[in-house]
Amino acid sequence: MAYLEREGLTLGAILATHHHGDHVGGIPALLAGWQVPVFGPATEAIPGRTHALVEGDAIIVPGLDLELSVLDIPGHTSGHIAFVGKDLVFSGDTLFAAGCGRLFEGTPAQMLSSLDKLAALPGETAVYCGHEYTLSNLRFALAVEPGRSALLQRNEREQAKRERGAPTLPSTVAEELSTNPFLRAGEVTVRAAVEHHAGRPLRHRVGVFAELRAWKNSF
Ligand SMILES: [Zn+2]
Repeated sequence: MAYLEREGLTLGAILATHHHGDHVGGIPALLAGWQVPVFGPATEAIPGRTHALVEGDAIIVPGLDLELSVLDIPGHTSGHIAFVGKDLVFSGDTLFAAGCGRLFEGTPAQMLSSLDKLAALPGETAVYCGHEYTLSNLRFALAVEPGRSALLQRNEREQAKRERGAPTLPSTVAEELSTNPFLRAGEVTVRAAVEHHAGRPLRHRVGVFAELRAWKNSF
């Protein structure tokens, strides 16, 4: 609300990716000031929701001429959705810059399949995620693939952005494919690091992903 006032903007719509309070808790207060559509997942409780969405739905964001389609991406929560446009995605708390969300309501297999959907978007797609967690995610990514030059370079780039007070977001799908360990669970380097950390061989990509996510939780 402060941003809208400062920039002289009017609220046109609210897009909700999932039901967590840090994403939707402010909706009632916004609706008290503006009567706007609230787009959100059909299977979760979203305050003030006017449009209940499932995968395959398409919406036009009023006032922006922005067409978005919906993907179901369960894992962080069971009804989590993404909004996908021509050259951007709002990935909520599923795909972060250099990381992924915690598995509160889903299985590792569900989360991995959701991340696969996002990873399949064109490389130049801008990734707008739900939190600025990039630097701490990169610290973990560097623990998994310490010598990876793309990762070291990205870490320097993102640190410089934060030092001058700029956001690291959005990133791109191509950048995530190259440096996000959770999109790289099928890579030999990531698997070897996770097997070493777990102290046992891991046969499937889902198993690698599950151990990787558990490792991050305790990092
Ligand atoms: Zn969340």
